[in-house]
Amino acid sequence: YSNLAASLEDTITPPVKVQHTQLLINGKFVDSASGKTFPTLDPRTGEVIAQVSEGDVEDVNRAVVAARKAFDEGPWPRMTAYERSKILFRFADLIEKHNDEIAALETWDNGKPYEQSAKIEVPMLARVFRYYAGWADKIHGMTVPGDGSHHVQTLHEPIGVAGQIIPWNFPLLMLSWKLGPALACGNTVVLKTAEQTPLSALLVGRLLHEAGLPEGVVNIVSGFGPTAGAAIASHMDIDKVAFTGSTDVGKIILELASKSNLKAVTLELGGKSPFIVCEDADVDQAVELAHFALFFNQGQCCCAGSRTFVHERVYDEFVEKAKARAMNRVVGDPFKSGIEQGPQVDSEQFKKILKYIRHGVDSGATLQAGGDRLGSKGYYIQPTVFSDVKDDMLIAKDEIFGPVQTILKFKDLDEVIARANNSRYGLAAGVFTQNLDTANRLMRALRVGSVWINCFDVFDATIPFGGYKMSGIGREKGIYSLNNYLQVKAVVTAIKNPAW
Ligand code: NAD
Repeated sequence: YSNLAASLEDTITPPVKVQHTQLLINGKFVDSASGKTFPTLDPRTGEVIAQVSEGDVEDVNRAVVAARKAFDEGPWPRMTAYERSKILFRFADLIEKHNDEIAALETWDNGKPYEQSAKIEVPMLARVFRYYAGWADKIHGMTVPGDGSHHVQTLHEPIGVAGQIIPWNFPLLMLSWKLGPALACGNTVVLKTAEQTPLSALLVGRLLHEAGLPEGVVNIVSGFGPTAGAAIASHMDIDKVAFTGSTDVGKIILELASKSNLKAVTLELGGKSPFIVCEDADVDQAVELAHFALFFNQGQCCCAGSRTFVHERVYDEFVEKAKARAMNRVVGDPFKSGIEQGPQVDSEQFKKILKYIRHGVDSGATLQAGGDRLGSKGYYIQPTVFSDVKDDMLIAKDEIFGPVQTILKFKDLDEVIARANNSRYGLAAGVFTQNLDTANRLMRALRVGSVWINCFDVFDATIPFGGYKMSGIGREKGIYSLNNYLQVKAVVTAIKNPAW
């Protein structure tokens, strides 16, 4: 890796200026009530990009007052669904117009390759909002037979003020998966970004208002979890909270919701997803897909294929080739073209990943590639591969959330099903096989929210996503996500003379 490390020394100046650092409350950028700010850092260097207003309890209260008023008195839930839909379509157009600017902010704050932000994630952001813009005027209730002497109908109504707390690994996409359905259904929102990545959401928030969103409908509060985040989860005037992040914090959210007003809760939490390479696999293709499944986004994916189970017949060849592929992974300044991997998001994640790597070595797994930091500044980590990993090792059980592939050997399907399911998580799984029976068997047996067969990380806006077990509660994206933001009202009308 020595050449790569050397090339990390010259840091490229991002092609964007930071315009917005204040909180977005009631349609205006404002300072936090305390006047406090916090620095958001460039993961390439650890240097400060900008000082950002730090939202706390009082700011969440102000945002909730604005969102409440916009819901209880404002035009948003009262305008025609078609008008709401048009605003969301206009917003998607504006996202496309500002594609490169949004992408540059996302990369600067998060460290992910600019080409990934500009060519995949920002276009997906527009796609998700168009998908939900299309839903806005297609949400409706039913008529229900009842017992014959009543006319029964259901009204699908917005739930009210939604609190949304998002992580730093896909700041824009996580925002879209939450804002899209909430807005399509006519809710108003208080959204807290992750403290590591507050910048792109503020620009996107401005574009929402340029598209015609009424004031107070979306309020964006930058700030920390135990302060601003906890204030959202425990607020008495928030009707629903949606959270994406760690399982530990997910438990806190559920607790705060139950201790306050029993607001509805959806959670998208951690994972330790199996990627199963069957004996019939074309090894080259399997290596490439397993590599993508783990290393995509610096390994910072909740659904990362982080337990690579390989059948014993192809295991040795797979390990050799997985090692070679990791050694060839192009790591560097994410603003350079052709970069596959940038730095980890911050020093906390960086240190945590290096600690897990040491654990792997100490517990007897074979370090095939990587194993250390890359360069001397910023949070770059060498693409790392362990083989001979055993199920009870910490690196096979915990979510590492970094570029560390762990390869485990298996003998038969019954065994790999049991081992794959032996996890407190159940977010996703990958299956690599040409055998239809094997694919069908695994697809049914795996206790996870998404199974990708001969593919991985397919995130179309139409496909539901969420976890079994401790990976979460509820589904985002697709038609299923709408239920998270709707109340069902049953309206029963007596029929005077049912015998017509
Ligand atoms: P986290 O769960 O602490 O943070 C996610 C969000 O929750 C952030 O906005 C944060 O400010 C907020 N938060 C934190 N504590 C809170 C509290 N007490 N009340 C309300 N909100 C709170 O995640 P992290 O510390 O950024 O990362 C830790 C680990 O979480 C990672 O290593 C990874 O394993 C996992 N993670 C998972 C996802 C995912 O997509 N499921 C995303 C990011 C991190």
